[in-house]
Amino acid sequence: MGNVSEECPTGAGFLACPPDGAAVHEVALRDGLQSEPVTIDTGGKVALANALMDTGLTRLEVTSFVSPRRIPQLADAEALMMRLPRRSGIAMSALVPNLKGLARARSAGIGQIAVLLSASETFSQRNTNVSIAGMLAILEELVPAAVEQGVGVRGYLSAVWGCPYEGEVDASRAVDLATKLLELGCDEVSLGDTNGVGTPGQTRALLERFLDRIPAERLALHLHDTRGMALTNVAVGLDMGIRTFDGSVGGLGGCPYAPGASGNLATEDLVYMLHGLGVDTGVDLTRLCAAAQLAERLVERPLPGRVYRSLAPGCSQSPGVAHARA
Ligand code: MG
Repeated sequence: MGNVSEECPTGAGFLACPPDGAAVHEVALRDGLQSEPVTIDTGGKVALANALMDTGLTRLEVTSFVSPRRIPQLADAEALMMRLPRRSGIAMSALVPNLKGLARARSAGIGQIAVLLSASETFSQRNTNVSIAGMLAILEELVPAAVEQGVGVRGYLSAVWGCPYEGEVDASRAVDLATKLLELGCDEVSLGDTNGVGTPGQTRALLERFLDRIPAERLALHLHDTRGMALTNVAVGLDMGIRTFDGSVGGLGGCPYAPGASGNLATEDLVYMLHGLGVDTGVDLTRLCAAAQLAERLVERPLPGRVYRSLAPGCSQSPGVAHARA
C-alpha cells in the first residue's frame, strides 16, 4: 500500500507526491478507555465499536487481557468480546501482557494481539512493574507462543521520543528493542511518543535510525498530541515512508502525566490531514466524527479532537484538498 505514482521523481516529498494510501490503527477502545477516569459499561463500548466499524476502519484494538485490578476500565474484556460483532475485513486485536492473557484472549476469540515494551527503564518499571529485561523474558515466551497458534502480533515500543521520568531515551537501545520485537515474531512495531514530546526534526533523526535497520512497512507511529506536534510528526513519517498510523477517536485517552492535556492523536484529525493530502484511508470522516460524538457522550467530558469539534454537529465538511487525484 502507498507507493507514489510513476510521475513522481525520486526524492520528491510527500507534499508533491503523496502516497496513495495509509492504514489507520484505531486504539480508542483499549488505549483510550484505559486512560479515562470513568469506566464505560460494556453496552457503551459495543455501541462505540459498532460506530467505529461503520466508518470503514479495518484495524480496531478493542480491549486488554490484563489483570482487572490493574486496569478496571477494561475488566469486561471477555464480556465485551462476547458482544462485539465480527465483521469481515475488520481485524479486532487486544493487548496481552503474558501467557495467561494470551490464553484468555484466545478463549474470547481474539486472533490478533498486541504486546508492550518500553524503551525507557524507569517507564517500564512504573508502567508495568517489570524491567525491560524482565519484559523481554516474558515476550520471548509470549510472542513465539502466539505466532505458533497462528495469532498475529503487534509490538508497541513506548517512550521512544522521551520518557516522562528519565527525559532523554537512548535511540540505539530503542532501535535494538524494536528489532528484537520483530525477531521474536511481531508483524509490526508501533513506535510510541508516549508523552508527546517529539518535534519534527527529532522525528526525522529517530526514524532515520530505525529505518536503517527496519523496513518502513514494518513500522507504525503512535503519536501523542500533548504539545500539538502529533500531525507534524505524522507528516515526517509519511515523508519517510511510514504508512501505518495509530489514532484514538476524539483523542480519547488524555495524557496520564498531565491531567487535562491531550494524549492520543485524534483519529479524525489524522484522517482529515491524510485525506487533505490525497492519501486514502478507506475511512468515512463524517461517520468518524459521529463516532467521536458518541465517545464524548460516553465519557461525559469534552474530547480534544479538533476536526470533530470544528465540524460538530453536522460533521459534513470535506478537508481542503491540495492534490486533486485523477
Ligand atoms: Mg497512546
